[in-house]
Amino acid sequence: MSKFIFVSGGVVSGLGKGISAASLGRLLKARGLKVSAMKLDPYINIDPGTMSPYQHGEVFVTEDGSETDLDLGHYERFIDENLNRYSNVTTGKVYWNVLNKEREGKYLGETVQVIPHITNEIKDFIYKAQEESGADIMICEIGGTTGDIESLPFLEAIRQVAQDKGRENCLFLHVTLIPYLESSGEHKSKPAQHSVNQLQSYGIFPDIIIARCSRPLEEGIRDKLSLFCNIPKECVFENRTMPSLYEVPYMLQKQGLDDVVCRKFHIDAPQADLHSWSTLMEHAEDVTETVTIALIGKYVRLHDAYLSVVEALYHAGLKNNIKVHIKWIDSENITEGSIRELLQDCSGILIPGGFGTRGIEGKIRAATYAREHNIPYLGICLGMQIATIAFARSVLGYSDANSYEFQPESSHLIIHYMADQSDEQDMGGTMRLGAYPSRIKEGTQLYRAYRTTEISERHRHRYEFNNQFREEFIQNGMDITATSQDGSLVEAVECVNNDFYVGVQFHPEFKSRPNRPHPLFTDFIAYSKANRK
Ligand code: GLN
Repeated sequence: MSKFIFVSGGVVSGLGKGISAASLGRLLKARGLKVSAMKLDPYINIDPGTMSPYQHGEVFVTEDGSETDLDLGHYERFIDENLNRYSNVTTGKVYWNVLNKEREGKYLGETVQVIPHITNEIKDFIYKAQEESGADIMICEIGGTTGDIESLPFLEAIRQVAQDKGRENCLFLHVTLIPYLESSGEHKSKPAQHSVNQLQSYGIFPDIIIARCSRPLEEGIRDKLSLFCNIPKECVFENRTMPSLYEVPYMLQKQGLDDVVCRKFHIDAPQADLHSWSTLMEHAEDVTETVTIALIGKYVRLHDAYLSVVEALYHAGLKNNIKVHIKWIDSENITEGSIRELLQDCSGILIPGGFGTRGIEGKIRAATYAREHNIPYLGICLGMQIATIAFARSVLGYSDANSYEFQPESSHLIIHYMADQSDEQDMGGTMRLGAYPSRIKEGTQLYRAYRTTEISERHRHRYEFNNQFREEFIQNGMDITATSQDGSLVEAVECVNNDFYVGVQFHPEFKSRPNRPHPLFTDFIAYSKANRK
């Protein structure tokens, strides 16, 4: 019988519930269990694909092409298991399915209601996510904060799961803020007590509390939480703010979180071996030198908008024994007058994915600057498209070169919509989403990184390199270094005269793991390190 762990949040949002859930997943996996994770999001959008990064941060793309919440990136990085289309459920998706069934007459004349129809649909998603992953333990995080009106159907659904599957097969874990009052110099447990009381009024009795705090918890606070929330003291854990997220599994293991979970589920599993994980963290403390990388985007005020890129840079830095310092640059600030000053202290330049016209010209300038000054350049998705437009303008002399997305009337559309780019995986949508295989050309910068010709990477884009220009690019120094397997779509380009100048149409950042950094990021950082200013 598979087990379910439900993770709810109390008092405030942005508590790092996702990190707590992911860390527990890491610990249980390290005990030899098959673990998967999913997130229930109470907002009404079908998925975060169309939301502003300022609202939501990055959109994380799964292998099977779902556009999901950024917490799924944490789950994949910590647990190191691929998630799927059932792993992120929103209220929008739930209602969409229920309303479609209603129109199809599937409810046979019943009155369609929140209970049981909406809650059944939510439970269906939870069971499908578990089945699809084959997990022994399914960790399921509920977005938002206890007490939010919109999360009620989700809480009711997980209460029902405990009835369907047996209370002994479900654990409720509540992550809650324990504020520290400077004036009285102590932590306060009252808000957490209220949030647990509220959860209890919905019929959910938490088994474990994870207290989020900025300082070590006093014993008295543990006693209070235990007494007022009706939870044994050994089930109250502290999740203190750490210098690195990757220290959280280790911190929770030391307090015995995974022991408590295994005991409650009557699972006899060997102790978690976190050796490689803790070695990595110790190694991180030893790294002292720094390399500065320019990250050029348009949502630079919110670093979460580029979360997986930031994490991938961190992983690659560890591999190269160097700390990556990211210089966040708003592309709208890059003008002919400012570019030198903005970029002169950067040893590498990265342009990540993006949509929309704003800030495009600044990015084109930066891609040209990197090419002309032989500064290591990694262009991801939009960053690759930008590299090709910059090349067409300054090397091929097509001053109006552009992408169909930004300037459809340009006479040199280097990036265009390729009619044959969609296949049956692209159902209904116009985006190329999820993992696709690519073929790498040997003897290239790309091959030097991957050391193989066959790769598979995740995609999220609408436009492609325009095949009409392939020959002209190759003849003038920008090589086509990877294509789709049938050769019809350009997957990567590079400037042959530069040490490292690579653009990829896919998103390598989604597959980087702390202990398995992505080769392309590793090489990018290695060349940037060698080029240190
Ligand atoms: N906007 C570009 C496209 O749709 C690039 C997308 C991206 O960078 N993810 O093709």
